[in-house]
Amino acid sequence: MSYEIRAFCRPVCDQPGCDATVEDMDVNWFSDTGYAEDVAAEWDWQTIGDDVMRTRHYCPKHIHAKCMECGRREILDRRTLENIGWEELDDMECTLCPDCANKGNV
Ligand SMILES: [Zn+2]
Ligand SMILES: [Zn+2]
Repeated sequence: MSYEIRAFCRPVCDQPGCDATVEDMDVNWFSDTGYAEDVAAEWDWQTIGDDVMRTRHYCPKHIHAKCMECGRREILDRRTLENIGWEELDDMECTLCPDCANKGNV
């Protein structure tokens, strides 16, 4: 008997101590990483390249926000970040911390 082996992947949260995966849906294993990242994004996961250009995934509880204005960083769940005033969390090029977002509005 012969087998053809295929590798499947799924995003796992890279936050130490967190083992969340993209799951609770019909399909939670993906045949390619691009599709996996699309689905992860739909579930509010964050996909970022770190300082050494490795791709990292963070679940919605561990969104890594970095302000493009002042460089301030915060790791919190998405709803909390939005509640305290972070803006443009989906666009890493435009993310603003509450202080800088306020400045822009004045
Ligand atoms: Zn997590
Ligand atoms: Zn800022």
